[in-house]
Amino acid sequence: MTEQCLVLIKPDAIIKHLTGDILAKLAETNLHIVGSKVVQVTKELAEEHYQHLREEKFFDELIKYIMGHYHMKSVLALVYEGDGACAKIRKCAGATNPEEAEPHSVRGKYGRITSKGIFENVVHASENPKEGEREIKLWFRPDELISTIYPTEMKEAKIEKMLWKED
Ligand code: ADP
Ligand code: MG
Repeated sequence: MTEQCLVLIKPDAIIKHLTGDILAKLAETNLHIVGSKVVQVTKELAEEHYQHLREEKFFDELIKYIMGHYHMKSVLALVYEGDGACAKIRKCAGATNPEEAEPHSVRGKYGRITSKGIFENVVHASENPKEGEREIKLWFRPDELISTIYPTEMKEAKIEKMLWKED
């Protein structure tokens, strides 16, 4: 079944210039990228994305981490598409705890736990297709993807956009 999976290259990976290495590793899945953008993560987006972890004691630190407070305010968001995309990407990403991740996985290779106990695990990957759908709809508009697997509709929408100033 064709699935889509949201991948986030987190701020620790961005500041260490690990993007290229991570994308090369994820290419081993043979999946295709159907959308990508650099995002400055707002508190609202971070909290909505990680809403299921709201009760965890590490929640506030996690929000600061993904917003870039400890590194830089930049996340690369990507959508991967293909059969079993979420499972394939998550296998390649490795376990949540970088110390428990397979040494050759992305998190095993590049992740660390800080002295404050933050899991700097360099990437996010949707846990399953259902979560993938929720997350992709949170991070992307359909017109930002070259391929959509969820229903769309044409609607007239008034969206405020920053445009290039005319002379
Ligand atoms: P995953 O990212 O592997 O899907 P979770 O959804 O459980 O894992 O957690 C989301 C993120 O929260 C993790 O990627 C990691 O950055 C952070 N996190 C999870 N568990 C812990 C923990 N025990 N201590 C610190 N940070 C954690
Ligand atoms: Mg998760």
